[in-house]
Amino acid sequence: MKSENIRNLFSGVAYCVCGAKMSLIQGTIYPFYYCQGRLRGLGCTRHALPYKALEAAFKILFLKVPALLASNTDNSTQAELEALQGKLITTETQIANITEAVKQGKATGALTIAQAELESEVEEIKASIEQAQAKSGNYKTDEQQAKKILASLDSLAADMGLRRQVREWIFSNVEKMVFNGDKQQFAIQFRKGVRALYQFKNKYTEGEATFIPDFPKA
Ligand SMILES: [Zn+2]
Repeated sequence: MKSENIRNLFSGVAYCVCGAKMSLIQGTIYPFYYCQGRLRGLGCTRHALPYKALEAAFKILFLKVPALLASNTDNSTQAELEALQGKLITTETQIANITEAVKQGKATGALTIAQAELESEVEEIKASIEQAQAKSGNYKTDEQQAKKILASLDSLAADMGLRRQVREWIFSNVEKMVFNGDKQQFAIQFRKGVRALYQFKNKYTEGEATFIPDFPKA
């Protein structure tokens, strides 16, 4: 198998706060994360960020995220499933009552129409149940993959197989990352609706992640 060198884990989801994409640029000493708008002289003046600090930040964020996704998404999907199953039972009971009435010779035009409507409703509920089940199934895969990645994150820099897994996880779980080099921070939006802000400290050697309701303004 071809071993592909994944240098930039965040390609495809990383943007500068000005709206341009971020690029990995090999500096004289370190690789930097640079705004393409600035590189092309399009008016952005935001500072670059040291790329290695971003991967270190991602480890910290990764540690916080799986548990958070677990409590939010799992519960809501489960609740949705239970509500749908309850609705299915109610609707099927109504159909059974109509069928019984028809058997007893009490069929009317109105009842027949009601039965047809209920039957199409049952079809819709069943489709929604399938969707909800698929959603919770996908979620479990992501959570398992997240746990596996978490267990071996210390070797992220060198392990190409792990880098590939992390990038896949980012593709399926991260909607967008918005960098602000001037403030030494980035905001990240996960596909499941969670947003976090990562603030670097002590010249990018440390940092802190907090969950936020909205992306910060440029
Ligand atoms: Zn920019």
